[in-house]
Amino acid sequence: MLDTTTLAEAPTWLSDPSPADRPFQQIVRTGAELLAAEDPELSRALDEEHLRQATTLSLVASCSVVDPSVLAAQSSIAVNVTAEGYPGKRYHAGCAAVDEIERLAVERAREVFGARYANVQPHSATTANYAVLSALMRPGETLLGMNLAEGGHLTHGSPAAYAGQYFRAIGYGLAADGRIDYGQVRELALEHRPKVIVCGATAYSRTVDFARFRAIADEAGAYLVADISHIGGLVAAGLHPSPVDHAHVTTTCTHKQLFGPRGGLILMGRDHDAPAPRGRGTMAAFFQRAVFPFYQGAPALNAIAAKARALALAGGPEFRATAGRILEFAEAAAGELGRRGYHIVSGGTENHTVLVDLADRRMSGLVAELALEECGIVVNKNRVPGDTTPALIGGGMRLGSNGAARRGMGAAEAVLCAELVDRVLGAVEPLGLREYRLPPEVRARVRAEVTALCDRFPLPGYPLREHRV
Ligand SMILES: *Cc1c(COP(=O)(O)O)cnc(C)c1O
Repeated sequence: MLDTTTLAEAPTWLSDPSPADRPFQQIVRTGAELLAAEDPELSRALDEEHLRQATTLSLVASCSVVDPSVLAAQSSIAVNVTAEGYPGKRYHAGCAAVDEIERLAVERAREVFGARYANVQPHSATTANYAVLSALMRPGETLLGMNLAEGGHLTHGSPAAYAGQYFRAIGYGLAADGRIDYGQVRELALEHRPKVIVCGATAYSRTVDFARFRAIADEAGAYLVADISHIGGLVAAGLHPSPVDHAHVTTTCTHKQLFGPRGGLILMGRDHDAPAPRGRGTMAAFFQRAVFPFYQGAPALNAIAAKARALALAGGPEFRATAGRILEFAEAAAGELGRRGYHIVSGGTENHTVLVDLADRRMSGLVAELALEECGIVVNKNRVPGDTTPALIGGGMRLGSNGAARRGMGAAEAVLCAELVDRVLGAVEPLGLREYRLPPEVRARVRAEVTALCDRFPLPGYPLREHRV
């Protein structure tokens, strides 16, 4: 704790529980005013981005809408502190308050995920994954992860990324039913004896069987890393089975389904006190060192403050309701698109993701993305199983329900959104992989309906007009 007895003036606001007029609020307000006055170019781009988010329907599966209190924590003066090390063991003085911030974030991460260990310092999930992989593995050792084209992530062994070039990466994929081929995972694990198996995905709409992955890892003598970046919110809400006690180590980002700042977490359950590789103490001590000093420098304490805030919200009842709507919306959207004749990969969804294969419509994912964006519906092109198109074209598109659920939308709105998507794609005439024609009257009608829907379900906490009375 800060010793305030030596200060000339006792700051009453430090112990005053009323929220009004804390100096921090003044700083953030002044900052916003200075930005607008002194940097109109940057200010305008930020305003335009606000307007875009408020008036378009984001169905991007990785999208997020953070609470304004998370924005405030991210904008806090904790940004000014360099604090290499961990709470109570820093390489600088003056860290008492930021130690408390980091302790709160760690405590809340453990609480929300029922974890025995949490590290809140990774700057992103990519960083969290690489800190974990580069600590567990030596260059050239074997990594078994999900193929990028079948739903995996770059960091799980793609040849385009560090993981695919510094490790010997082997990929597993999907069975004909669009679900993970666990038989293939086991065969590859027993044949190649990987040091690490990674499970968890970027574009996969089915429940991941973490217990089964662990059984395979144990049989093959591998470490299991579960990356729940996409389903972190569902796991936190208890609406997707948790990997925390199945995997040796779990990673997640905080900026997708946890509605937090850009950042990563490393979590451990029952293996936190298991012996680490190469006789390096416990797994918990091992991963502390894996993040700092091995892989990262000083943590971003403003981001950690924002993580602490987002994690507090993730433990609350409102978050649970949102997570319920995430499932409801995705299921209803997948059902309605299926009824309208769209090819849904794996036939449906059990999480927030709906993967649509557009090959039978002779339409690229890029054309679908561009045409929908013209109408105010934001999705992303995605490769789908068996896809041979480049990633920037994509044979399909990926929809997600995080943003819609945060706006309060449920199953009824999902059916309407699916109808709007169908009206656009039904009217699109593809002229190639990138070019298409869309009748202007379709564009105008759908855009108007999207605007009305966004007005009816505004982004919570992001007013477009000042609401001062
Ligand atoms: C998004 C994602 C990541 C990367 O997260 P960043 O924080 O953006 O680096 C890692 N793993 C999976 C499975 C993801 O979906």
